[in-house]
Formats: sequence, structure tokens, C-alpha cells
Amino acid sequence: MSNIIERVDYFSCGYCKNKLGVMFKNSKNEKKLSGIINFPAGVFLIKHREIGYVLYDTGYGIDILKNNFKYFLYRAPNPIVLKKEDLISEQLLKRGINQNEIRYVILSHLHPDHIGDVKKFQNAKIIITEDCYENYKNSRLKDLIFKEFLPKYFEERVEVIKEYKKLKDFPVKVNDLFGDGSLYLASINGHSRGQGCLLVKEKNLFIAADVCWGVDLMKYTERMRTLPKLVQDNFRDYEKGIDILEKIQKEKIDVVVSHDSEERIKKILYEENN
Ligand SMILES: [Zn+2]
Repeated sequence: MSNIIERVDYFSCGYCKNKLGVMFKNSKNEKKLSGIINFPAGVFLIKHREIGYVLYDTGYGIDILKNNFKYFLYRAPNPIVLKKEDLISEQLLKRGINQNEIRYVILSHLHPDHIGDVKKFQNAKIIITEDCYENYKNSRLKDLIFKEFLPKYFEERVEVIKEYKKLKDFPVKVNDLFGDGSLYLASINGHSRGQGCLLVKEKNLFIAADVCWGVDLMKYTERMRTLPKLVQDNFRDYEKGIDILEKIQKEKIDVVVSHDSEERIKKILYEENN
């Protein structure tokens, strides 16, 4: 196997809190779903040996904490915990990586906890799926696309990925982003239209945005309560997305999602993959 991807790193860039019992109904046979879980805004840094650094999402940006009514409504159901040092730009600097070294930013979708810090990466091209771009062009309030978090040059700099092809032993069509078989982008609906999910082939890793909020929570999907169902763009598609993730897992590929626990992702990346 080729060796194009040097490494994949993970950063937790702020988190929000949510009650498990508010998200899913309890079942009689299982122990009660209770307690508060933290959902980190996960960011992945991929080092491609030829292209350089590719960032997958950018986590929260500091502006989401501003005293603004729209942001207040967004924060009310999921209180956000975020400090300046949690920002991806700050965490990269601490590792000695300058913001200008990031060549590409793949935005999985345009929710605030994924695009928050994107303005800092001014040298990067932005990659999104075609459905995500269409959603941006025709967004409704419910789509939660806070356009002010995107850089002014977004439309000139964005690379919209339109063609997806079948890949052997993989259940969803993909685009070979750099034509070298290292990073494949899939477009998956449900939580939001056309979420860009990334297969890092050499690392046997699939980064699946918000296809669900936690791989460990996939088993509760059919017990999701009405309100969290309404937050999804389309719940039927959401269920199909879960099926896709299960099929990918059957191919012995590790699936992680953006809001998985830090422990789960680090275990997969640092004990199994890198
Ligand atoms: Zn989202």
C-alpha cells in the first residue's frame, strides 16, 4: 500500500453539553438513558506528504459566544464551553503549525461548530460537496448556516465537489479528492444536506461529520425523540446514513464522527491507526 498520508491528528475545539434523556427515549429493557454528555467539536488535521496540511472542519469560533440574539438561541439548547486556547488556529500554533500552512479546509457542512474558525486559514482552498453548496445558496433559517462565519472570499475560493464514483468494497460513492487514492470524499444527507465525509484509505478511517452525534449513540437512532429529529434536515435520510456507517464498519473501517468523545477518537487514531 502506498504511503501518501503521513498522519491524521485530532483536536477537540470547544464542546457543547446535552442531556442523553432529552435526545433519546428510554427503553424498558435497558438501563435508563440519563446524564449529561459533552459533545466536542472535533477537527482533524491530515498531513499529506505532497500536498501538505489538509484540515477537516474548524470547530467553534469565538464569535459564537457573542451577545447576539441569534447566537443566544443557538446556544440555549446546547450550552457551549469554549476558551480562546480551544480554537483550532490556537491549538495548531501551539504545535508550531502556522495557519498559512493549511492548504485545504474540507468543510463537512456549514453549521457553526464546523465553520467557526475557518476565516483564520486564509491560504487554504475550501472544499465542500455540491449538495452542501446548493444548501448554502438556498438556505433557510432551519439550515443553521451562519454565513457571517465564512470568509468574504468564500465563493471565489470554494471548490465544489460534483462527481462521485463507485469505489470497490465501499457502500457509498466517493470523489478521489487529489486523484491519488489517499482521500475520498462522500456526500451523505440526513443531519444536513450533502455532508462531506472523508475516507482516509491508508488509515482505514472514515470521518463522518454529523451523520450521527456519536458512533456509540447509533444504536439508539430509532428512539430519537421528536425535537432532536426535527433538528435534522431529513430523518429518513438520517436513518439511511446510519445504515451506510454500519456497512462501512462491516468492511473493517474505523468510523468516527465529529462529536464522538475525545477518548474514543484518540484511541482509534493513536492506538490503532497512526
Ligand atoms: Zn451539524
